[in-house]
Amino acid sequence: MNERDQTSAEQQEQLRSIPRVDRLVGHAKLAQARRRLGTGALTRLARAALQQARRAVRAGAAAPQLDEAADLVLALVDEALRRRVAPVINASGVIVHTNLGRAPLPAAAVQSLAETAGGYASLELDRRTGRRGPRGGFAEMALAQLTGAEDALVVNNNAAAVLLALTALASGRRVLVSRGEQIEIGGGFRIPEVLARSGAEMIEVGTTNRTRLADYERVLAARQDVAVLLRVHPGNFRQSGFVERPRLGELAELAHRYGAWLVKDLGGGALVDLAPHGLAGEPEAGPCVAAGADLVCFSCDKVLGGPQGGALVGRAELVDRTRRDPLARAVRLGRLPLVALEATLASYLAGDDAEIPVLRALRMPVEAVRKRVDHWCGRLAERGVAARPHDVLAATGGGALADRPLDSVAAVIETSEPVELAERLREATPSVIARIHEDRVLLDGRTVLPGEDEALLAAVVGAVKALGKGT
Ligand SMILES: *Cc1c(COP(=O)(O)O)cnc(C)c1O
Repeated sequence: MNERDQTSAEQQEQLRSIPRVDRLVGHAKLAQARRRLGTGALTRLARAALQQARRAVRAGAAAPQLDEAADLVLALVDEALRRRVAPVINASGVIVHTNLGRAPLPAAAVQSLAETAGGYASLELDRRTGRRGPRGGFAEMALAQLTGAEDALVVNNNAAAVLLALTALASGRRVLVSRGEQIEIGGGFRIPEVLARSGAEMIEVGTTNRTRLADYERVLAARQDVAVLLRVHPGNFRQSGFVERPRLGELAELAHRYGAWLVKDLGGGALVDLAPHGLAGEPEAGPCVAAGADLVCFSCDKVLGGPQGGALVGRAELVDRTRRDPLARAVRLGRLPLVALEATLASYLAGDDAEIPVLRALRMPVEAVRKRVDHWCGRLAERGVAARPHDVLAATGGGALADRPLDSVAAVIETSEPVELAERLREATPSVIARIHEDRVLLDGRTVLPGEDEALLAAVVGAVKALGKGT
């Protein structure tokens, strides 16, 4: 029996009384939505609403009147508009938060975008000769300089950088990967699957917790078709205890002895040493190049603090092979992120990295965070909202410094309904992303950007009061 046969005569009657789509789209309640989305998009949402209504009728509900049906459409309109990217205040305590767009851009990058995005730009033009020039030339020079590499290439993201590196260097050949590094980064990026896509074949070496130089060497000595040793920075998880893997330099030396290349997927890719700020352990791109890695791949929007992008740095000959691979065209960096990346890298070159928001958040002394949160709590108290400072741990995020939580301070907002309060904060304008920990709503002072304090406090006062009133 199909659905129709199961429908009773009464339900048939109800189904017939469901308003028609053209009447619905013309409803006065939807006039504003019609202006904002256009009739076509509104009609699409109205059809979806009517579909829902039909399903409800078949499940035994009454057919909606025209007015009710218009409300159903309005709910879908609201949902559609909410899918647009909106600014948020990040009080989550995770500095590089993939759901929140990772790195906020430095002011210099925002200004560069403002100056170039609305017009034409010399993206692939050599202004001296008037001929076509290479895209990304400045960014690539800067990345090579900042990492001590011979050359660099910028692409769409680090996933693309790794895929491109493996495709250009190892397609049709073998790649050795330690069993301890066959990881999933998140968002479906799994090393073995990316490797398979590159057309290279993976050979696993070692064990989950211990992989020795001899494990790589046994395979290298036995076969001629190994093109690459891939080393992956296992950023987003931690192994401790009975764990061993060779140093990068040893691995590079071994690879070269057997005529293979060492490719490092670094993940974050810091361009400055964070150890003086108590953040030892995040590998930088430069030292990987110095240790002998032939190509190093990293993200531009993790600890580097720039826009979405991926970098490949290393030996000129190999960078050139990746640049000439047909896949390079498919993963090239867009114009807007390139403009932002150039400005970010220019700040590094000029030694102005203190202006980069991710680095500023990472390096902020905990006492400065405490002072800020104390101030928030005082201001909230004046406005009748109970809040107190609380020591917490923030995180770098983006797979960086995973075993290195950052001392931080959060404002705990008194409430008996933490989930509801966090939801109201998310729905505020601007949206505020809090963290719930042990049934408490926490607003971390480390990740809120300078200049966002007043908007944050206003949102908290508004959300707490609305919750109190139950509106
Ligand atoms: C984050 C990460 C990636 C993916 O980088 P995207 O820039 O997000 O594409 C790949 N490898 C490692 C080790 C990472 O940490």
